[in-house]
Amino acid sequence: MCDHVKITVWNEFRHEKKNEKVRKIYPDGMHMTLANNLRRQGNFELKTATLDEPEHGLTDDVLNWSEVLVWWGHMAHGEVKDEVVNKVQKRVLEGMGLIVLHSGHFSKIFKRMLGTNCSLTWREAAEKERLWNIEPGHPVAEGIGDYIELPNEEMYGERFDVPTPDKLVFVSWFEGGEVFRSGCCWERGHGRIFYFRPGHETYPTYHHPEIVKVIGNAARWAKPRLVRPHVCPNVKPIEVIKPREVDLRNLPAVS
Ligand code: ZN
Repeated sequence: MCDHVKITVWNEFRHEKKNEKVRKIYPDGMHMTLANNLRRQGNFELKTATLDEPEHGLTDDVLNWSEVLVWWGHMAHGEVKDEVVNKVQKRVLEGMGLIVLHSGHFSKIFKRMLGTNCSLTWREAAEKERLWNIEPGHPVAEGIGDYIELPNEEMYGERFDVPTPDKLVFVSWFEGGEVFRSGCCWERGHGRIFYFRPGHETYPTYHHPEIVKVIGNAARWAKPRLVRPHVCPNVKPIEVIKPREVDLRNLPAVS
């Protein structure tokens, strides 16, 4: 099986410009770190796109090229133009894969695809996160052990207001006591969607090899099996349909 995937990593790219702490961890932006780390992980071709580029960097050419779109956003979800969201949604329904990371749970595109509020509980207290691999046979968990441990992360807790995932691959436990459905798979139209929780901007999560491995696995899993534009045609019958008369007067009376 060909494991080559064309991936576009989209990042809001605002925290890195405003916050020295974030810039130290991701000097060229989270998108560049993640793209460079993914490049080392597999047979991936990578582009990046950011909010402040024209059309947020997601032109028709970029979207048509992309087999998988990775999305990180947080403080500027509202600035993402609806016409871009419409185009991304259309591409996912046609077959493009979508991987939504961390605070992308509140992005317009994630909420659009899932149709729920996508809210959760949260706390920023630099606590330990243990992501339990509960589907070790799933392609997204390939090469991952029983769990991944992150020494410092933001906490996300239930209830995570999303439709029940088609497959739940990771469940997180946090030092403060909460649990969270942190690796979730859905299908919408012909497209596959994976939500992966870790990745708060003030921790070096996208430098962590196992986190990058899961995102690479998810890209291979979400790569389109087919791309089919939406149609709703009026079709001719394949077989000959014989006309038949129905006399409504012969029907039994409704009791
Ligand atoms: Zn966060």
